[in-house]
Amino acid sequence: MLSYAEIKRAAADVTLVAVSKRQPVSKIADLYDLGQRDFAENFVQEAQEKIAQLQQLDITWHFIGRIQSNKTKPIAELFDWVQSVDSLKVATRLNRHAEELGRQLQICICVNLDSEAQKSGVAAKDLIELAAAIRPLSHLNLRGIMLIPQPQQEYAAQLAAFKRAKHLFDQLQAAVPQVDTLSMGMSGDYQAAIDAGSTMIRIGTALFGEREV
Ligand SMILES: *Cc1c(COP(=O)(O)O)cnc(C)c1O
Repeated sequence: MLSYAEIKRAAADVTLVAVSKRQPVSKIADLYDLGQRDFAENFVQEAQEKIAQLQQLDITWHFIGRIQSNKTKPIAELFDWVQSVDSLKVATRLNRHAEELGRQLQICICVNLDSEAQKSGVAAKDLIELAAAIRPLSHLNLRGIMLIPQPQQEYAAQLAAFKRAKHLFDQLQAAVPQVDTLSMGMSGDYQAAIDAGSTMIRIGTALFGEREV
């Protein structure tokens, strides 16, 4: 585990999102007191309870979990950012709920960079087409992409994967100039992600310690 100050120093030029899934509300409040404002959750029901308890704090909440289409309504209600959009169906539902709520959601398309069978996310080759389909949805602001490459121990291998992601992001930005967010890098690989051009890292265990079960 690193101190908040150490991680903030490493992340000086990127947005640091604290991933608080399976961490108690008290730890979120502690980090908030140190100045952290962006927090991410993976599970709707867990997030619902925690966000209610922390209502008085000025937190920007990010949803980064798998999206079941019957959960799009609470997600549109609770979260400011939804980073795990991986289909037009989910995007269309989020847009409809956001419209009903009079909200604007910041979204990222989740990319399955290495085409891993067990992972959600759109294949790299389908990204531009999905982005073009999402763009007209007026209550969603398409901000960029989120991804988790295959886990690698070596810095060089991490960097190579993140550079592929940066290349994909550059292609998306050429097609959709408004995109500004390349969300990649977690506790074990954020340095390589930053070196490859990440604009947003999502850190859980390195900030909070091991998750509760
Ligand atoms: C849990 C999670 C993280 C944080 O992972 P750590 O290894 O604890 O830093 C980041 N992104 C996503 C999508 C996650 O599910």
